[in-house]
Amino acid sequence: MRQRVTVLGATGSIGVNTLSVLARHPDRYEVFALSGQTRIDKLAEQCRQHRPRFAVVGNDEDRKRLASLLTREGGATEVLAGADALALVAAHPDVHSVMAAIVGAAGLQPTLAAVRAGKRVLLANKEALVMAGEIFMAAVRDSGAILLPIDSEHNAVFQSLPAGFAGDFERAGVRRILLTASGGPFRTASAEKLARVTPDEACAHPNWVMGRKISVDSATMMNKGLEVIEAHWLFAAAADRIKVVIHPQSVIHSMVEYIDGSVLAQLGNPDMRTPIAHALAYPERIDAGVASLDLFQVAQLTFEEPDLRRFPCLGLAYRALRAGGSAAAVLNAANEVAVAAFLAGQLPFLGIADVIAAALDKVPQGAVEDLAAVVDADARGRRAALEALPRP
Ligand code: NAD
Ligand code: MG
Repeated sequence: MRQRVTVLGATGSIGVNTLSVLARHPDRYEVFALSGQTRIDKLAEQCRQHRPRFAVVGNDEDRKRLASLLTREGGATEVLAGADALALVAAHPDVHSVMAAIVGAAGLQPTLAAVRAGKRVLLANKEALVMAGEIFMAAVRDSGAILLPIDSEHNAVFQSLPAGFAGDFERAGVRRILLTASGGPFRTASAEKLARVTPDEACAHPNWVMGRKISVDSATMMNKGLEVIEAHWLFAAAADRIKVVIHPQSVIHSMVEYIDGSVLAQLGNPDMRTPIAHALAYPERIDAGVASLDLFQVAQLTFEEPDLRRFPCLGLAYRALRAGGSAAAVLNAANEVAVAAFLAGQLPFLGIADVIAAALDKVPQGAVEDLAAVVDADARGRRAALEALPRP
């Protein structure tokens, strides 16, 4: 039987790559639902090609627009709108797998709905795990959901860990997780240069083509910080067991070091279709359309220590991870506000870290017993960050 797949955030960079892998394997997969908040024309085109049972948009106006775009073709797709509809297509009994590729905190509720319904969840939306890791992982245990990482680093770690690894480092003989980072577009930039960078410069990543929010996160290295927290939850790894290694070529996607001195790595071209195909087919393998890695072309793999002085966001993420409780939700919320302000030209690049630090200093951080506590920490983090923005 074909696997029915929901793609949340279908119109984004991960969503488009997911549909490209799915389209190569019509014998294995069937698209059940697509969602998109932006680029409704793109979503219409995707619906025409994949003929999902449902399409979900953000509001009623877009719902009407998409429905009218589709009825002209004699639409097979029912168009819905809003948060409840996202949760519905994520948790629907007919769905096997859910690609969680909405960007930011907006992805938390539908992704959690898929987890609670015991789906096979392909997790790109790292912010959901950063905000609510404890609740998220408890829901995975309770529902029996299968959580497969799409983030290239975590997918590489997953592939390099022993099969069935459940967080017992001692028993598995695992010493450390080595998360690689390209260093982003400003890896070698001076502090003076960093003070003047523009949104377009920050979004021009040397190795990956991604949405604008994660591109800015890569430029500040907050992306790696969020990924450290993501690794903590996915692999039950204490902060001290996760080491960030700058590797500008982005060929080694991450590594696992064992107590006997072995270091296992996963390598490949920087192309998200590889982790997407891996997670879709796991434990089998399918063609992803990715070219063979040409090692002679790559020629050299190099490594550097991260520079926490020029990239304080990475240190802030470790601080939030060590603080525990709601600190990571505050960090994530403040980062979303700061990045949006930077992209809108309201905050200089170096101000992003200042705004996040101010929010972490200001918002009291406590335990997160339930989703309401996470939502509250998120709201407080956003408020504190907005207050810390420069006055226009
Ligand atoms: P993107 O901006 O290209 O796409 C985001 C998608 O989410 C779009 O479909 C958009 O319409 C939808 N969306 C945005 N705001 C929404 C909202 N409020 N409600 C519902 N839907 C909304 O982003 P992306 O680069 O595809 O990244 C998606 C997620 O995957 C992020 O969490 C990112 O950190 C993660 N990720 C991306 C990459 C990559 O290579 N692009 C790699 C690793 C992890
Ligand atoms: Mg990544």
